[in-house]
Amino acid sequence: MNPHETALPLRLVALALACLTLAACVDQDVANTHAHDEERHATRETRGEQQPAGTVIPAAIAARSGLRVVPAVAGVIADEHEVQGLITPVEGRVARVTARYPGPVRALRANVGDRVRAGQALATIHSNLSLTSYSVDAPIAGIVLARNASVGELAGEGAPLFEIADLSTVWVDLHVFGADAAHLAPGHAVTVSRMGDEKRAIRTTIDRILPGTATASQSTIARASLPNPDGLWRPGSAVQARVTVDETPVALAVPLAALQRMDDADVVFVREGERYLPRKVTPGRRDARNVEIVSGLRAGERVVVEQSFLVKADIEKAGASHGH
Ligand SMILES: [Zn+2]
Repeated sequence: MNPHETALPLRLVALALACLTLAACVDQDVANTHAHDEERHATRETRGEQQPAGTVIPAAIAARSGLRVVPAVAGVIADEHEVQGLITPVEGRVARVTARYPGPVRALRANVGDRVRAGQALATIHSNLSLTSYSVDAPIAGIVLARNASVGELAGEGAPLFEIADLSTVWVDLHVFGADAAHLAPGHAVTVSRMGDEKRAIRTTIDRILPGTATASQSTIARASLPNPDGLWRPGSAVQARVTVDETPVALAVPLAALQRMDDADVVFVREGERYLPRKVTPGRRDARNVEIVSGLRAGERVVVEQSFLVKADIEKAGASHGH
């Protein structure tokens, strides 16, 4: 073990502490971080070694820093299509509520966004014909999507006063363009999430590809259903979706988070005991989670698959300090 390697755990402790404490308590630890930086620089400058090839991280520190190491194994790379879509009410589960007889609106008893029961009174209209008031009731249970009336206004015969939709299930209409359309088929798995919020994703499958083409956008529509018990998938909202069309087995794959760039090369970090060595690799196909490793790594070698940037930062800090 050369002298500089013994110093590296110190830097990693500082790095790990900085990360942990910053996450827990931002304000009070900024000062501490700076203190650690000073200590780190002092340590580096007293030594003056060459740019390191790797680093040493004691097991306890690696564990505390959240470094996760797993043996490289065969994997699967999915053919996935990222598409965008729109949440749409299910056809036939939308009701337009109209006045049976024309007359002024006397009262309105539901607002946009209200949940209503079937048969619930929504409005009172004074009929111009019978000169009596009558109640307009919800024909289905659902949520009031639109209200096109004000008290005192004349409700015309057949003019929609309310639009109610049963949104307990909604459709997600995925807009698929060009060659993508030929790849997608009913039964393909789909992961749907809100724009910019991949964390709360829900899995479903494509029910059908609609026969026509949307004329305005020239897209083909692939339709899937989503359960919507809490009503959080709102009609009209844009969503992103990942359709898994195919899965190809590969001899070796690692999570994307294992891959880092160092010195204009793709590397992974291989653990040997407590040593972490950058290893140049040739990446192949990739999907949203994994990347195939074509060369540079053998099955069974232990690769850092989480927090690999900490290892990279640790090695690069050593290099940077050397230049002072
Ligand atoms: Zn494809």
